[in-house]
Amino acid sequence: MRNRARDLCPIYFTMSNGDLILVAGGGGFIGGHLVNALQRAGFDNIRAVDRKPISEWYQVCDGVDNRMLDLNKLEACRTAAKDAVYIYNLAADMGGMGFIELNKAACMLSVLINTHLLLAAREFGAQRFFFSSSACVYNGDKQRDPNVTALKEQDAYPALPEDGYGWEKLFSERMCRHFREDYGLETRVARYHNVYGPFGTYDGGREKAPAAICRKVIEAKLSGRHEIEIWGDGKQTRSFMYIDDCVRGTQMMMNGDFVDPINLGSSELVSINQLVEIVEEIAGVRLKRIYNSTAPKGVNGRNSDNTLIQKEFAWEPTTRLRDGMEKTYAWIYDQIRANKRALQVA
Ligand code: NAD
Repeated sequence: MRNRARDLCPIYFTMSNGDLILVAGGGGFIGGHLVNALQRAGFDNIRAVDRKPISEWYQVCDGVDNRMLDLNKLEACRTAAKDAVYIYNLAADMGGMGFIELNKAACMLSVLINTHLLLAAREFGAQRFFFSSSACVYNGDKQRDPNVTALKEQDAYPALPEDGYGWEKLFSERMCRHFREDYGLETRVARYHNVYGPFGTYDGGREKAPAAICRKVIEAKLSGRHEIEIWGDGKQTRSFMYIDDCVRGTQMMMNGDFVDPINLGSSELVSINQLVEIVEEIAGVRLKRIYNSTAPKGVNGRNSDNTLIQKEFAWEPTTRLRDGMEKTYAWIYDQIRANKRALQVA
């Protein structure tokens, strides 16, 4: 497709308009943004599938075939993948550290989603299949120091990934590779590093650090109780990728020729304490910090080495953390205010 899509971004779309595109996990954060971006790029035959009722999806696009299906089941994957030419798998039972450390079996069960989707993709002759892997596949021994050396793709082996969630991602990466090598299904795998932005989870236990910190700062500001709980000592370091960069990189990879897993993440490293400072600045407040040393905090340091994506695609995420956090903060602020108003009316 070389019309509107090319005008919006320099991605060369190998996908043709009219070909059915399946977005699994379309009711979630990244899936919702991807469906939106595909529509904006002019694609008009999109199927979005999620386990959640459609009323709970973060974004629901008109003109999309929106369906509620549990993709753990092979039959549901067959229904979802029927006639699909391109399949993006963004469905997984996941969340931030608080969720994945306490729900390892649930995280590992997502292996059923990817495996059944691959089987269905093969059965219906899909041309391409995208799997959303994670930086949690990387060897834990390489992430003990907050002054981290950025993770290169080869650092996933020897394997010592995040227990539960990371093992599922690593296994599913390999499953993609073997479907490509053995059955000729063109698979693409991105290792996302912490994605954040509007229209995502910010409360309920599955939220990740950027959204959780925005929520806590907003609650402190609105309540006048000027303190914030931080998990761990706040010195743990991470990089965070804004959703627009993630969606763009995802499409670039899906349409590109590079077949091995590749980092898709920002290389702008910050500590959690620095992230809190950024949000305090945006909100115009200073909060007393209360450190919770018993809360799950994940590895000490993690950053994305973007040498490979620069070499293969001459690209890497560009949104500055401060700019992305401003947009995220504004959206979460509006949600919290709207919820409070709704509670007052009820
Ligand atoms: P999300 O939780 O917002 O979206 C995942 C969606 O999958 C949810 O809407 C959920 O209902 C759906 N889902 C779960 N089980 C399902 C099932 N059995 N059948 C159908 N749908 C099901 O998460 P997200 O942030 O949008 O993440 C998308 C993908 O990217 C996931 O694979 C995730 O592991 C991966 N990833 C995300 C991040 C990040 O920072 N957000 C980082 C690394 C990897």
